[in-house]
Amino acid sequence: MNNRLYSKGQLMSLDACTGCAACVEACPAVGASGDGRLSGFYRLDWRRRAGAGRLRRLFGGRPPGGEAWRAFSETVFRCTLCGNCAEVCPAGIGLKDLWLNLRQELVDRGDYPAKVEMIGENLAESRNVFGEDQEDRAEWVEDLDEPPDDLFIKEQAEVVYFTGCVASFFPLAQQIPVALAEVLEAGQVDFTLLGEDEWCCGFPLLGAGSLPAARELIEHNLEMVKAKGAREVVFACPSCYMMWREHYPEAGLKLSHATQFLDGLLASGRLPLRERELTVTYHDPCDLGRAARVFEAPRRVIRALPGVALVELADNREKCLCCGGGGNLEMIDQALNAKIAGRKVEQVLATGAEAVVSGCQQCLRTMATHARRNKLPLKVMDVAQLVRASLDI
Ligand code: SF4
Ligand code: SF4
Repeated sequence: MNNRLYSKGQLMSLDACTGCAACVEACPAVGASGDGRLSGFYRLDWRRRAGAGRLRRLFGGRPPGGEAWRAFSETVFRCTLCGNCAEVCPAGIGLKDLWLNLRQELVDRGDYPAKVEMIGENLAESRNVFGEDQEDRAEWVEDLDEPPDDLFIKEQAEVVYFTGCVASFFPLAQQIPVALAEVLEAGQVDFTLLGEDEWCCGFPLLGAGSLPAARELIEHNLEMVKAKGAREVVFACPSCYMMWREHYPEAGLKLSHATQFLDGLLASGRLPLRERELTVTYHDPCDLGRAARVFEAPRRVIRALPGVALVELADNREKCLCCGGGGNLEMIDQALNAKIAGRKVEQVLATGAEAVVSGCQQCLRTMATHARRNKLPLKVMDVAQLVRASLDI
């Protein structure tokens, strides 16, 4: 194996696999496709046999050819990076980190799906993952009932709201920043956006196996936040939040997901609330729940809203079923993404809730698209939208 990419611990962990198949059963991609080659077990086994190096030479095995690597690569990128395999593995193998390194190895070898290249190209050219015009990044502000004169772009502020590419540019997801901005205003929070100076956080490059290419984005974003004199950065996108937490250098900034920030705002009593009868269930986004271990803040927010009742999904918190929206899967295999979403929405409907609430724009898009296409009687909303709807203003 390529030792530059894998730590000694990772190389050793490959031999810890007992073949118990817990990761196969827990994998949403396998469950939705019925294809065992998408599982962690298959991937570990294939890669171990392909990389047995000295042992393979001694015993006369033949290394896999280019075709086999390309076919293997197709299975590696058809994964949502949900981390459920790592969560259930009784041998404690850090499977999700292995998948990230494996993607990087495949990119270094030149064996990856063509669409992966588009991510890097868009970011290099336009600084956002969709290749849109950066000038339009904060255009959603105009959708507010009363957009402020400064369009939320201040010279200095205590808090920076880092919006992220999907919520900035995708019409369905733009409802989240609109709602969050209105809630922050109602709570008299001194916040600013970065506007066109906000570049992609770099997370899509992590899933594309090209993390080193994110360096320029990271340095730029940090510089822009520091220039605002902010002490805290708030993210409604769990992937941006995790990217900053794990891959940005420590800069003395408090980093909060919006659900944590809203939890604090509600506890301080600064939000005027009205009664609103609604039964909801909560979907833990993979990057916020399993990855960042933020499970209780969103639930406290929901329970703090008068009249709103929370019913739990059969699989919740660290066991939450992925919605299909992660790992750049939508770009690589839209049909699989839709099938995973279908299984998720089935479980949501079984709770009898009127709405499913999440804390991630990609979960919102994935589940709402499935509900709309299949004409299902289900509201899909973000925690910020739920709080906005309960504001007494
Ligand atoms: S990260 Fe999720 S989708 Fe990918 S192999 Fe593991 S369980 Fe399956
Ligand atoms: S859950 Fe862990 S030990 Fe079991 S098959 Fe998967 S990788 Fe191997």
